[in-house]
Amino acid sequence: MSQIYLDRIDRVRNAMADQDVDAVLISLGQDLPYLTGYEAMPLERLTMLVVPRDGDAQLVIPRLEAPRVTPRPGVFEILPWDETDDPVALAASLVPGATTIAVGDQMWARFLVELLPHFPNATFSRAVEIVGPLRMSKDQAEIDALLAAGAAVDRIAAELQAGRIPLVGRTEADVSADLSARIVAEGHHHVNFAIVAAGENAASPHHHPGSRVIRENEVVLCDFGGTYDGYCSDITRCVFTGDVEAEAPDLAAAYGVLHEAQQAAVAAAVVGTPCQEIDRTARRIIADGGYGEYFIHRTGHGIGMEGHEDPYIVEGNDLPLAAGHAFSVEPGIYVPGRWGIRLEDIVVATADGPLPANNADHHLVSLT
Ligand code: ZN
Ligand code: ZN
Ligand code: ZN
Repeated sequence: MSQIYLDRIDRVRNAMADQDVDAVLISLGQDLPYLTGYEAMPLERLTMLVVPRDGDAQLVIPRLEAPRVTPRPGVFEILPWDETDDPVALAASLVPGATTIAVGDQMWARFLVELLPHFPNATFSRAVEIVGPLRMSKDQAEIDALLAAGAAVDRIAAELQAGRIPLVGRTEADVSADLSARIVAEGHHHVNFAIVAAGENAASPHHHPGSRVIRENEVVLCDFGGTYDGYCSDITRCVFTGDVEAEAPDLAAAYGVLHEAQQAAVAAAVVGTPCQEIDRTARRIIADGGYGEYFIHRTGHGIGMEGHEDPYIVEGNDLPLAAGHAFSVEPGIYVPGRWGIRLEDIVVATADGPLPANNADHHLVSLT
């Protein structure tokens, strides 16, 4: 298990050499567990992983938090500090004379301000330029975690589509709480979100579930996910509380276009294809279907330890997909005041083609 972290820190050191960075300083956020297996609570006390270009990595940590760290000798040393110590001075002393220093985005400004006088001649940059590209290309263990997370939310989607999660007569908030409980019951450690949007509310992509009671013969959009074994799930499925062909043929027709667009975009997610081309694939089909003005967001976002991370599937991103990139493909059509629909899967780009992490039924299921 420690080997994974050793390899990752080695790759950080290689990138530091390439980019001529003397020290990487990581505090809060997901880069820390990516490199050490330890996730720090967002405390006012300093936790900081110090990675010198040459030399051992050290984890500067409040002594009272140290028992939560799994020691990984050979990967990093644990350097606990006591309540009366100056932890910033301690961290700075580990990389004396560093002149190029990359810091994590989620380090408190307070600590960066306190670091500056220790390195009067240094140039500071963002550690995301070093760690970000590594985190974007998932290794097999990470892909397995994303697939397991996807399978867990697929089971919830299947319950929804089978009519085993009651909808009509309940509020959106009530159904959202139900989905959240199921996310935990399926093995996630946290619930990240559980959007439930009925009828006209579904036209707002990030609708906050509220007191609106779900009625018969309307669309219910459910977009939910959590963190499972350190990796995120994220799925959207829509159901119709009645016979959609009979009650809302216009909605059924729009969904047919959305379904085609989503499947084509997933199929386009082959290694070497620029991210924006996946967005264009979905957008072209939705525009040709006459709904172009109603597709109001990018096609997807990267996913991993964070719910939204690189690579973004959006016009302007010409980054070619590489094996191990993981992202959502989630086009939508939103008609204000009437209804909204979205269809979302997580997909991993592999040498053998796009590998979907979600396989729940992709149709607009009628619950009658
Ligand atoms: Zn979103
Ligand atoms: Zn989602
Ligand atoms: Zn998403």
